[in-house]
Amino acid sequence: DPGTGSAGSSPWLGALAERFAQLRPALDRLDQHAGDGDLGTNLAGGTAAAARAGVAGDLPADLRVLADAFLDSVGGSSGPLFGLVLRHAAAALAQDGDDPARALADGLRAGLDAVREAGGAEIGDRTLLDALGPASYDKDRPRRHLDAAAVSAALEGARRTSDLRARRGRASYLGDRALGRPDPGAVGLAALLLALHEAVTG
Ligand code: ADP
Ligand code: MG
Ligand code: MG
Repeated sequence: DPGTGSAGSSPWLGALAERFAQLRPALDRLDQHAGDGDLGTNLAGGTAAAARAGVAGDLPADLRVLADAFLDSVGGSSGPLFGLVLRHAAAALAQDGDDPARALADGLRAGLDAVREAGGAEIGDRTLLDALGPASYDKDRPRRHLDAAAVSAALEGARRTSDLRARRGRASYLGDRALGRPDPGAVGLAALLLALHEAVTG
């Protein structure tokens, strides 16, 4: 029904938007410490826009909607970069439906490369790559699945950004002032990976 603007909403996108609405104040506070204070608002805005897009889809369709919402309606660094990761995740999932956790691992690795290319940052620069990298590789070995170990590694990687000095993004202007708290984008990315893991494990 085009009149209502909603063709039946996706429960996974709705739950994701709810979770990022809850994380919003904490992520904004982290970004106040090292940036301009809008990371929580940006991630809450992107997920809410996706939930409003109102598809009752499978996970690949939901991820495409989510990627488009970030690319089309979220600014800053997180809009295009989260959008890029999500687009690669969605594409891999669409290609390999047999084993979604394996497809997501492949897609996230492609997303990692795309973000490095687009943003010029490397792992260790105190960005979302410090969550995405450990989720994609175990030491130097590609992870085969987005499993619990990959999610734990992402959360641990995000935690460790507290000790990293930023070399990219706004936080790089602050020198040591950003130390002592984690990078908000890394925390947000780890939260997204947890939600993706939940989606494929039920
Ligand atoms: P802005 O600084 O434009 O307000 P956001 O607050 O939306 O951007 O996003 C900030 C997050 O983006 C940072 O916490 C960091 O994780 C990530 N980020 C910033 N620059 C880069 C980059 N070049 N490569 C990867 N991630 C980046
Ligand atoms: Mg910001
Ligand atoms: Mg901003």
